[in-house]
Amino acid sequence: MSNQIQNIPIAKPWVGEAEAAAASRVIMSGWLTQGPEVAAFEQEFATYVGAKYACAVSNCTTALHLALLAVGVQPGDEVITVSHSYIATANSIRYCGATPVFVDIEPQTYNLNPLLIEAAITDLTRAILVVHQIGMPCDLKAILAIARQHSLPVIEDAACAIGSEILWEGQWEKIGQPHGDLACFSFHPRKVITTGDGGMITTNNPDWDQQFRLWRQHSMSVPDTVRHGAKQVIFESYPMLGYNYRMTDVQAAIGREQLKRLPEIVAQRRYLAERYHQTLADIPELKLPTEPAWARSNWQSYCIRLSARCDQRQVMQAMLDAGISTRRGIMCTHREPAYQQETWSCGIDRLNCQCKPGRCDRLIESEHAQDQAILLPLFHPMTEAQQDQVIRCLAEVV
Ligand SMILES: *Cc1c(COP(=O)(O)O)cnc(C)c1O
Repeated sequence: MSNQIQNIPIAKPWVGEAEAAAASRVIMSGWLTQGPEVAAFEQEFATYVGAKYACAVSNCTTALHLALLAVGVQPGDEVITVSHSYIATANSIRYCGATPVFVDIEPQTYNLNPLLIEAAITDLTRAILVVHQIGMPCDLKAILAIARQHSLPVIEDAACAIGSEILWEGQWEKIGQPHGDLACFSFHPRKVITTGDGGMITTNNPDWDQQFRLWRQHSMSVPDTVRHGAKQVIFESYPMLGYNYRMTDVQAAIGREQLKRLPEIVAQRRYLAERYHQTLADIPELKLPTEPAWARSNWQSYCIRLSARCDQRQVMQAMLDAGISTRRGIMCTHREPAYQQETWSCGIDRLNCQCKPGRCDRLIESEHAQDQAILLPLFHPMTEAQQDQVIRCLAEVV
């Protein structure tokens, strides 16, 4: 028994009695969805990131869908984004009937390379959807300069970036203020704080915020909270097509408890990331992640890159055999069967495009990152002993 393997997961949410009590409080209150807890969570979230408005929705994918609709993305339009992201990013563009135009990433930050945007802009471009990948802020300053020049709105996929910061006019500011036009967050358990599932859209534009509140509830003209307290009979109407993208009050109550834990979660993740930096720096087969001078990650994931001499699958399998879960680098959406050639573009005339299934010359850094990177376990309740176990195992395996 003494040499029993202690399994280490890739991630684990930090939830406990406080969240259980909050959920119970909502259940006993008798008001279970899009009520007072959602309203309070929105306020507290907006205050935390420094945005004027925050609208809670069912998840980050629906948040992205509504954000794209708000800036006017329509069937036939193009939206510039990255392939190297969770598939939800590009899927949200396709929900609008638009075409994702994929540009490549910077190999160091795994984020959209601003130098490649200009060449991807056409008459059909309607928006730019950037990602703060695994919590690392993308180069918003450079991206916004190009976007403003072309009058294109910028939506931030901040699914993983709650608590990340960017240096803005000499001050450290939270991602989601937003610095672009809209930012979308996820509360899936794989992210930094969780409500089970859940999402949030932040903006400083009151018209968009009002629009989101209609859309998330089938565009119903009078929300239930108003009808419930009314002394007079009210008949609601449905002036336009809407959706059911509501967050429940049970989720929101859990989210409010998670927000209280967030500063401690981010501090601990930064501490553990720094420990990885210090201890892994001596292993020549590894390339460690770096923060640009203007970025502070929340370290939603710790992504290392293996040298060409290492086999990604073998390294991951050897670690799994030792009870340690890892994940390969972020996926490339354009390599998935759901993304047949006609559903996306790499920014050149499709008739002349030489791309093959699973291979695109213009997305070479994205493909290398998927094939060479692995994500190491990193979560708030992780002990130093567990982290040492990961470090020792990785050193042996490579
Ligand atoms: C997780 C994730 C999403 C999707 O979030 P859900 O809340 O699960 O819909 C979108 N974009 C990125 C970059 C993500 O990591």
